[in-house]
Amino acid sequence: MSTALPEQIEAIFQQVKARNPGEDEFHQAVKEVLESLGPVLVKYPEFSDQKIIERICEPERQIIFRVPWQDDRGEVHINRGFRVEFNSALGPYKGGLRFHPSVYLGIIKFLGFEQVFKNALTGMPIGGGKGGADFDPKGRSDSEIMRFCQSFMTELHRHLGEHTDVPAGDIGVGGREIGYLFGQYKRLTNRYESGVLTGKGIGWGGSLVRKEATGYGAVYFVREMLKVRKDSLDGKTCVVSGAGNVAIYTIEKLHEHGARVVACSDSHGVIIVEKGIDLDLVKQLKEVERRRIADYAGYRQGARYLAGGTIWEVPCQVAMPSATQNELNGRDARTLVRNGCIAIGEGANMPTTPEGIRVFLDAGIAYGPGKAANAGGVATSALEMQQNASRDSWSFEFTEQKLDSIMTGIHAATWETAEEFGAPGNYVIGANIAGFIRVARAMEALGLI
Ligand code: GLU
Repeated sequence: MSTALPEQIEAIFQQVKARNPGEDEFHQAVKEVLESLGPVLVKYPEFSDQKIIERICEPERQIIFRVPWQDDRGEVHINRGFRVEFNSALGPYKGGLRFHPSVYLGIIKFLGFEQVFKNALTGMPIGGGKGGADFDPKGRSDSEIMRFCQSFMTELHRHLGEHTDVPAGDIGVGGREIGYLFGQYKRLTNRYESGVLTGKGIGWGGSLVRKEATGYGAVYFVREMLKVRKDSLDGKTCVVSGAGNVAIYTIEKLHEHGARVVACSDSHGVIIVEKGIDLDLVKQLKEVERRRIADYAGYRQGARYLAGGTIWEVPCQVAMPSATQNELNGRDARTLVRNGCIAIGEGANMPTTPEGIRVFLDAGIAYGPGKAANAGGVATSALEMQQNASRDSWSFEFTEQKLDSIMTGIHAATWETAEEFGAPGNYVIGANIAGFIRVARAMEALGLI
């Protein structure tokens, strides 16, 4: 992947930086996509004439709002809420909500921008958006979480709708939060509008497999990358960063494929288990009791805990970054390659720094970027919307089969696009170009809006 952008694209990137000062993660996400687009403009000059790239880099609408709430002691807190409605050429804005203290406009914009291309790759009728708040759910009681969600939705609801904007979860927003958000939306609008949020509970409009989908999908993507290399996951040693929803179901599916996951992590440290992680214990600690991964070592012999350590030093053949952005840098990437890693599947959004990506591509290993590899979550959200629209609910097997074929399709599309544009095996270029062309074609058809 070249880092020098052709002149015309470099000028657009400089403009994006100047118009969005201080938003480093957004700049990073835009640069990575723009670096892929040179050959597209040569092949399709009409995209330049219509300023498609400039338009794609500017969100259609950005909403920033105050979220006041009271904690259990009666103290008042003020958080900042966001929803960036990035692009609706292919369907209603679709993308998760992130509740994390690091959230600011630059993070929501990078996530929204990535979402546009990811959603296009799924082939489903969904545009791209993202939202969230700089609220820290850690250590908060259930009633505090409920009050926060209610306050957040009190403003957000006027911007949503099943045909307008359909949020879901992301870091810090899971089934519990979606429940409180949906309850407040229903109360404010007096409508049981199932299709307005995804990631709902089973029994009140949710879809089977949605919870598992991002992790399962990422493993299917890695399976496909290995398949073209005449290899498989069977018997592979893996590490999966994170211990949240994505990491847990990545581990589950890796185990089903005969792989052994020897490490996972949370924001405090890394747990290493040479004979393989006991996933039931991780689920109990993280999903049920909401505790730290460090506590794993207290329940199982042979588990080592590295406080504050980096997981990428644990030797593995397959690494699946499933925690957060920029969690894997150039040095980590070199360590992984040196230790014999042959495949990377990104469950998180933009977890590898630009230098890390270069290391992987130069080493010629199979590198599956997040916008392709983790698209299974949002794809299954679109399946949830489909079930809601037809007032139907599908079986686990049927839904999982659909997810599998969507992921296999994304792999094929990114692989073929990379070949077509002269970069065989480069899924970064394949994903960026394939996603971009789908959005660009729709924007072209819809006119200058
Ligand atoms: N937050 C997830 C993502 O990054 C899922 C979004 C959704 O289901 O709408 O793609």
